[in-house]
Amino acid sequence: MAFEGLSDRLQSTIKKITGKGKVSEQDVKEMTREVRLALLEADVNFKVVKELISRIKERATGQEVMESLTPGQQVIKVVKDELSILMGGEQSKIAVADKSPTVIMMVGLQGAGKTTTTGKLANLLRKKHNRSPLLVACDIYRPAAIKQLETLGDQLTMPVFSMGTEAKPVDIAKKAIEQAKAEHNDYVIIDTAGRLHVDNELMDELQDIKASVNPDEIFLVVDSMTGQDAVNVAESFNEQLDITGVVLTKLDGDTRGGAALSIKAVTDKPIKFAGMGEKLDELEAFHPERMASRILG
Ligand code: GDP
Repeated sequence: MAFEGLSDRLQSTIKKITGKGKVSEQDVKEMTREVRLALLEADVNFKVVKELISRIKERATGQEVMESLTPGQQVIKVVKDELSILMGGEQSKIAVADKSPTVIMMVGLQGAGKTTTTGKLANLLRKKHNRSPLLVACDIYRPAAIKQLETLGDQLTMPVFSMGTEAKPVDIAKKAIEQAKAEHNDYVIIDTAGRLHVDNELMDELQDIKASVNPDEIFLVVDSMTGQDAVNVAESFNEQLDITGVVLTKLDGDTRGGAALSIKAVTDKPIKFAGMGEKLDELEAFHPERMASRILG
């Protein structure tokens, strides 16, 4: 289960303070010290931890908490609140274009789960929002990637637009949108190429696609298991492409949680969805508040 270590540590830390009828500044100090260590151990970005702890300290030692009838519980509420705010606060929605189709561009490194997530997102849009998406294969460098998307399309009985490996990604994307208009697909989800590392060539290509199709959303797919790396990847993709949201995959694994807790603070872009398994129905809207409750138990 994701966050197991972090969750265990935070829960045992807050247990000590929960039942207290009176909370001293010393209690808060000890609690925040342990919360700080737990977060660092979970691979949360150092600066993010520092700012979070100072906010928790300030609120937890405020008059309102100290003078309340259940200060212990109030302190826990502050921690939960701040964790939720850190992950983005309110859950953000997926865009709907004024003029159909809504175009979503999926970007990310190879192996992050981009193609799988493209299929999952299409499935979710149809099931939950009654939409009719067109999937687009723009990864022309790996024939296997096109095949993978076509297989997903078959499984979902959903159309997949591809022009093989010879056409340019920009042209594929443009043509796909024309087809979507003609066939009344209200969402176009473009699966782009990934590389093992962030490189200029890839970014140039993604910028070209962005400029030519003007997507309503650019979702960066990152593997939550890669911790700090996921945060660095998010930072560079965001600098180059001004992404609109993040999809965190593999949250069903034993990720320590650092990525989930740092990405919003570092990029100021919301985590919109979480991948919870390999199957096509294992994508969930990301709810910061629920996630904070899950972590704190
Ligand atoms: P891409 O190279 O970014 O397109 O990555 P793929 O979509 O091919 O996914 C890489 C691997 O990660 C595949 O084996 C997927 O089944 C797996 N995967 C993707 N998302 C998840 C997830 O949320 N949970 C788990 N456990 N596996 C995932």
